[in-house]
Amino acid sequence: MTKHGGDTSKEGAATCLAPVERGPYHATRIYAGCSGVTGGPRVDASGHVLDGRGLPIPGLCAAGNVTAQLFGDASPASGATLGPGLTFGYLAGCSAVAALE
Ligand SMILES: Cc1cc2nc3c(=O)[nH]c(=O)nc-3n(C[C@H](O)[C@H](O)[C@H](O)COP(=O)(O)OP(=O)(O)OC[C@H]3O[C@@H](n4cnc5c(N)ncnc54)[C@H](O)[C@@H]3O)c2cc1C
Repeated sequence: MTKHGGDTSKEGAATCLAPVERGPYHATRIYAGCSGVTGGPRVDASGHVLDGRGLPIPGLCAAGNVTAQLFGDASPASGATLGPGLTFGYLAGCSAVAALE
């Protein structure tokens, strides 16, 4: 069980759970979601999409969740998707502008 954000002075399930003892109670609907992806085309350092042989496809750039995750199927820390998304978005934008010049 993860203790991330929990009370590490407690043991086992008590790390993240506590007794519900006093009202009033409130409820909210919770939906499952996904914060990133593990598939998609690979890109090079300039944001160009790579073909099946690992060669950049001229004029085709991508960034963010449509691309293969930088860290594979791992999520090492908060920012592991937004950081690369912003960085590669900028790099892909620079590549697109350079192609017009
Ligand atoms: C609850 C939650 C918490 C998160 N927390 C973190 C965090 O702490 N740190 C972190 O790094 N990442 C976090 N993420 C992940 C991060 O938000 C996403 O990885 C990031 O927003 C992806 O950006 P993106 O631009 O690639 O895609 P998106 O933000 O999904 O943008 C895609 C856009 O394309 C639009 N679109 C889709 N289809 C079409 C179409 N056919 N035509 C036109 N437009 C279209 C969509 O409406 C959307 O605006 C979190 C995600 C969630 C859901």
